Amino acid sequence: MADVLSVPPLISEPYGFFFDFDGTLAELQPLPDQVALLTERRRLLARLQIISEGAVALISGRSLAELDTLTAPLCFALGGVHGAERRDINGQLSTVTLPPPLMVQLRAQLQALCLRFPGTFLEEKGMAFAVHYRGAEQAGPAVYQATAAIAQPHPELALQPGKCVVEIRPAGVSKGHALAQFLTEPPFKGRRPLFIGDDITDESAFEVVNQRGGISIKVGEGDTLAHYRLNSVTAVYLWLARVVTRLEKASTGVTVKGVGYEPFSGSL
Ligand SMILES: [Mg+2]
Repeated sequence: MADVLSVPPLISEPYGFFFDFDGTLAELQPLPDQVALLTERRRLLARLQIISEGAVALISGRSLAELDTLTAPLCFALGGVHGAERRDINGQLSTVTLPPPLMVQLRAQLQALCLRFPGTFLEEKGMAFAVHYRGAEQAGPAVYQATAAIAQPHPELALQPGKCVVEIRPAGVSKGHALAQFLTEPPFKGRRPLFIGDDITDESAFEVVNQRGGISIKVGEGDTLAHYRLNSVTAVYLWLARVVTRLEKASTGVTVKGVGYEPFSGSL
């Protein structure tokens, strides 16, 4: 039962840390570009990055460029657009793309769709499109159906529902797949995974984490495959602060620099 999930344990082992971004590390806002990462939260993530020897990755529906902007000056391993683009800790990129003619067709169809539903807007993500309807929540089911009808004739496309958003992205990519890929590479290889997320798209990552004996944490309400739950973004950071302090205490010879932190280099 989803409602009996407990808060996650305070760990002291070297996990690989994976996070969704929106609704997990930063509160949701009416518009995606209103979301920001608060300074003290960024500092905590920097401490986690140091104490975990770089084994911290963000896996989000946002693009890599957006994630870099939101987390600057930190530099994380990243999975963007639900795993359609991925950057490992050495900066190596891997990207799944769609044929340009199909992108042109989808853009025109989805722009027309947004004109039919006032309050919606279209976001382009390079190899994916997101139709946001937070400004037209009552039209949500109709927006979803219309978007699904556009994707339906194309087997190379997948539909990705989220909170007041429905996306069309390349088929065969998922956050779970991206997380599994990270686990084959340093510095994540050999570590058990921990993933925190809040939305439907995070369930594939929870599934992979559970299969690997890791820790899966759902933020907020809702049915989930996750084994633990934290009630809010604030609760995520309160829990994470205790974990980071615990890991720092367990470590010897590690100096934590809250100010003047420089992103890890590609040498890790
Ligand atoms: Mg989210």
